[in-house]
Amino acid sequence: MTYVSKALRERIQQHFKNRCSYCQSSQQFVPIAFEVEHIQPVAKGGTNVEDNLCLSCRMCNAYKGMQIEARDPATNHLTPLFNPRTQKWDDHFEWSSEGVMIVGKTPVGRSTVDALQLNHYLRLEPRKLWVKVGKHPPQG
Ligand SMILES: [Zn+2]
Repeated sequence: MTYVSKALRERIQQHFKNRCSYCQSSQQFVPIAFEVEHIQPVAKGGTNVEDNLCLSCRMCNAYKGMQIEARDPATNHLTPLFNPRTQKWDDHFEWSSEGVMIVGKTPVGRSTVDALQLNHYLRLEPRKLWVKVGKHPPQG
């Protein structure tokens, strides 16, 4: 990963309210520091300009890897992944009624849920606990 200054990292944390740009987990409940993620991977020409950077939890970043697109499981069409800088989370995803599962509302949302494993089984128990204590889903 290329160098990101402390000041830039802080701006990114603030911009994304210290939540993962993809799964919306809050840093305060996840015991591994969130990472600055290149939306367009460096290996595919992405740079450290602020508009190419977002905040990501380890799991989302690991599953995203160098992907910029994935197949929409509903249509099998290759679809760009969600871009947290140019797109709004709520336009592409919603929480299931109990607030535990992320539902893709669009091709972008569905391909991203699938590619980044946003409903991986290891994510579900923590979310259930966050819901139970009134800390999830995040508001605003
Ligand atoms: Zn995440």
